[in-house]
Amino acid sequence: MRGHRPQALTVSLRGLLQESKPQHVLRRYGTVSSVSAQSAAPPSIFSNALDANAPRHNWTREEIKEIYDTPLMNLAFAAGTVHRKFHNPASIQMCTLMNIKTGGCSEDCSYCAQSSRYQTGLKATKMVTVDSVLSAARIAKDNGSTRFCMGAAWRDMRGRKTNLRNIKEMVNGVREMGMEVCVTLGMIDLEQAKELKDAGLTAYNHNVDTSREHYPSVISTRTYDERLQTIANVREAGLNVCTGGILGLGEKPSDHIGLIHTVATLPSHPESFPVNTLVPIKGTPMGDNAPSPFDATLRTIATARMVMPRTIIRLAAGRTTLSEEQQVLCFMAGANAVFTGEKMLTTACNGWDEDRVIFEKWGLRPMESFEVEALRELVSSSAPPPIEEKPVTTAAA
Ligand code: SF4
Repeated sequence: MRGHRPQALTVSLRGLLQESKPQHVLRRYGTVSSVSAQSAAPPSIFSNALDANAPRHNWTREEIKEIYDTPLMNLAFAAGTVHRKFHNPASIQMCTLMNIKTGGCSEDCSYCAQSSRYQTGLKATKMVTVDSVLSAARIAKDNGSTRFCMGAAWRDMRGRKTNLRNIKEMVNGVREMGMEVCVTLGMIDLEQAKELKDAGLTAYNHNVDTSREHYPSVISTRTYDERLQTIANVREAGLNVCTGGILGLGEKPSDHIGLIHTVATLPSHPESFPVNTLVPIKGTPMGDNAPSPFDATLRTIATARMVMPRTIIRLAAGRTTLSEEQQVLCFMAGANAVFTGEKMLTTACNGWDEDRVIFEKWGLRPMESFEVEALRELVSSSAPPPIEEKPVTTAAA
């Protein structure tokens, strides 16, 4: 009877092993498909978001939390599925961001190199000329960027008539090149927003940065509601809203949920949601912050994609810290825009050549200017969209 153990002995040995070893040490052999399907079963709100054919604006924080807390592989895969339903997954918007007025800002944003309150070694400058902006935009266009963004470091546009006139000239000139144009100029009122719209502006960026709860730990010189008022002015003027946040400001995961909840419950979802990760700047109060982990970036992007299916999700500051594979994972999970060029405001930026290589390798292509114009109209409409996946093309940059 060699090799044949009495069944009772086998059972008692197994019992002994189970009693003496912690559960995680026990080895059980099987296939992945034998893993309990129950533990991976998506909750209903998750399924609803996965199956949705139109954006919704009445998200509760609890619902967003349920999606955010989904096991990351499930979440990223589902977000990728939603992304393919609402967008061409091969199309990535390439934006170049130029600082048109550097430093000397009166605000106290704890992460910012351009605040005059911190010793960061950054030299404040006056506003650049219209000609220098137009030549930078031309270079960006020649390298494949289809959106040109301009940022000025100041609190608001109050009393800046000359600046506004010059900026309108810049906007008009860039628009004449066939590019989309975005500006980020601090707080603006409705009249200023309308003037910019008339000059040809496509979008206005004004980030809410983080959740309402965490916001006072980051900035004290303007309130969350003031930020939301500027966003309302931009929307009312008929401009596209670009608003997002920064990860790594000492926040908790619940603040990522709060950030997404804020923008996902606006009267219309933002056309663009930038996801930045902090680039710590020595001399600022957040100069020694620990880096935000990649899984938080991926989770935030994937959740935003499921909750705001038509929005362009922008992989923004901090992209230089991501490997090629991490960036591609973000694209698979719903990110479809990047900043590219020589510099991103005051920090380093992934360059056009580098992006061209990645795009070619992974079958991506730069988004055309105004490719998402129809999408934007749908973003502000409550009508159910026609869902039709565009063919994937692999045109090189
Ligand atoms: S983020 Fe903008 S508003 Fe805040 S300090 Fe920097 S430049 Fe000023």
